[in-house]
Amino acid sequence: MPPDTGLPSEPLSGAPSDPTGESFSILDSASPESVQPPASSTVQSLFGLSFEQLSGLVTHFDEPGFRARQLAQALYRDWHPDLDAITTLPVALREKLVAEGYTIGLPPILKTFRSVDGTERYLIGASGNQTVETVWMPDGDGAEDPDADDNAPARRRATICVSSQIGCAVNCQFCLTAKLGIERNLTAGEIAGQVVAVLRRHQVELGRDRINLVFMGMGEPFLNYDAFMDAVRLLVTEVGLPASRMTVSTSGIVPGIERFAREPVRPHLAISLNASNNTVREAVMPITRKWSIEAVIEAARKVPLAPREKITFEYVLLGGVNDSLVDADEVVSLARRAGFPSKVNLIVWNPGPSIPYHQPAPEDVERFQQRLIARGVPAFIRRPRGRDIYAACGQLKRTTEAAP
Ligand code: SAH
Ligand code: SF4
Repeated sequence: MPPDTGLPSEPLSGAPSDPTGESFSILDSASPESVQPPASSTVQSLFGLSFEQLSGLVTHFDEPGFRARQLAQALYRDWHPDLDAITTLPVALREKLVAEGYTIGLPPILKTFRSVDGTERYLIGASGNQTVETVWMPDGDGAEDPDADDNAPARRRATICVSSQIGCAVNCQFCLTAKLGIERNLTAGEIAGQVVAVLRRHQVELGRDRINLVFMGMGEPFLNYDAFMDAVRLLVTEVGLPASRMTVSTSGIVPGIERFAREPVRPHLAISLNASNNTVREAVMPITRKWSIEAVIEAARKVPLAPREKITFEYVLLGGVNDSLVDADEVVSLARRAGFPSKVNLIVWNPGPSIPYHQPAPEDVERFQQRLIARGVPAFIRRPRGRDIYAACGQLKRTTEAAP
């Protein structure tokens, strides 16, 4: 296994867009299309730049266009940690890049926590001495179902859970990440960089290993829409991970879902439903007051689905709050009214310090699932992964001690 680092000691750069706060107004911010050479005192990461941006950069250095392809190969396919290692580039160009303050800027894995179940949680460096959390789950995340798009034999299977923001502004009452509040958005390079750092650590062979990505770590991806989608495009076109093996989860940011519906290349969509009606949902997810379940479903109807594609409803089961058979029946009728092909992923609530909920009894979880299935709604129970290292859903809060 390669070492975790080999990585720039400089802080990563790239101006993040403003954190959203409570206004949810970030959705229209534009991402920069051109690369300005950095002032000599600043450090500029190459990692995160699109092929077009790399092309602009090599033009700036009066280099032939094919150098952009070599740079993209080095950054996104070979996962080189530093400029010196890119021997395909002439030494003079590497020196010019360094002189102008460029660094590769692949985010470093600063700390690794390993669960008894093989799950790993990482604290990955981000600019401003911040860290962001990413999770590696060998053998998938337990939410796989027979409709998964690929049954081909694979050497290794794993799911990487990726963060989109540091903290989160959405304030779901059952989620530990919410306790952080929003610190800032991640840049496209910081989002895609989590994936590449983890692929590199595990010496993944794309093409032979089957890697799924879930944008379900810290943060609300649709409140950092541009950087999130820029990262997706980088991961698809440059890193070579198919969008069909990616899923993004949203708490129900309607303008984000509407934009997402117009994307030509996009991950699968998951919606955190977490309650069977607006009254309960408002209590557990106050954002429901802004966008009701019906508004979220109406937006999701606009997403054109591929044959056999389904939209996932995620449903965190909170004991005594949303886990009754009446709730199950309401979920069935919501799924029917939605009208699009869907399935439900049931997630048993993962506890966190000072979060006042209870886990449902195992038999209630089973009963809930069976009720959905009996009434024609495909339902899967997501196996909790890495609870002992605070790596499970909703537990990402940069906790450095072990779970009690
Ligand atoms: N912000 C996005 C994606 C990250 S959260 C969203 O909310 O969809 C990923 C999933 O974890 C969501 O479905 C969320 O409802 C769930 N979750 C949050 N806290 C949890 C907890 N304590 N136990 C189990 N699932 C939780
Ligand atoms: Fe944010 Fe998702 Fe946690 Fe809600 S569940 S606070 S949207 S990370």
